[in-house]
Amino acid sequence: MPFSEIDEKRSVLLVTSAPAWNAVKANLRGLNIIETIEVAEATTDYWDNLQSSIANQKSEIVYAVGGGLVADASKYIASKLNLPLVVLPTALSVDAFITAASGIRRDGCVYYMETKVPETLILDLDTIAKAPASIRAAGITDVMSIATGAWDWKFAHERGMNPAGMEFIPWVYDNAQSILSGVLDCAEAAGRGDKDGLKTLYDCLAMEVQLCNQVGHSRPEEGSEHYFAYAVENEMGHGLPHGDLVGPGIMIMSKLQDQAAGPLEAALKACNIPLDRIPSEVVNRTLAELPVYCEKHGLAFGLAHTLGKQ
Ligand SMILES: [Zn+2]
Repeated sequence: MPFSEIDEKRSVLLVTSAPAWNAVKANLRGLNIIETIEVAEATTDYWDNLQSSIANQKSEIVYAVGGGLVADASKYIASKLNLPLVVLPTALSVDAFITAASGIRRDGCVYYMETKVPETLILDLDTIAKAPASIRAAGITDVMSIATGAWDWKFAHERGMNPAGMEFIPWVYDNAQSILSGVLDCAEAAGRGDKDGLKTLYDCLAMEVQLCNQVGHSRPEEGSEHYFAYAVENEMGHGLPHGDLVGPGIMIMSKLQDQAAGPLEAALKACNIPLDRIPSEVVNRTLAELPVYCEKHGLAFGLAHTLGKQ
């Protein structure tokens, strides 16, 4: 539904980021905002500070307006305050709007901490269509990571490296491939801001998240491409969107896995994911460090663990 039709009588704690809020605030006059938190980082210390900085804590409901960082922070804050949460994505930039966990930065890696699923998600496809092209459909990277993540899951299975609870399940793998093919088909439309294309991208994100929920882990969609993204963020800084790091990760890992990378590259480009932001010497250094990095952070076994070892 259009954000302009939201009419919220309860007192609202708004969690947002300045660019997102400035882009949509004219349509959100129906929110009874009494407190506001602006988010710029993803650590629990930082979120705890933000939360304790709000003066009266009289809010009855949390509204999150923004992208992935805002969604992750709002899930954490709403679960701490024990308040219901409504998420209003301003772009389909990640899958964090619909997961039950918040990604946090710790010791140079990203960990997922269980927080809560938003009670309500309001999709305004006109608003999302108007988001900056480079983030509008960047969440495609969190579905396309099936290409390299599920490959890793099968690879780990063949080497006997999947721990108890993460056993390879062929029908789940097949379902993931089907979601991947759906997202590749909608990439062009979603990338140009077509509303049906964006809705299909949302459906693929939701199915990918649900599949991971059912099996209790994210091996069908998280592997070496994400490990590369987590590691390279230490060199590139925390300012780059998730897709700008995961997108190159998918390209690099799919090639190292001897997969046909052409269709993946075409879909990433269609969704305006920049693939040239990471200098090649940084890529090479990150790849050289990746096996040790993966061991150090206890990441589930994949191709990244074996680079340079055979
Ligand atoms: Zn991701």
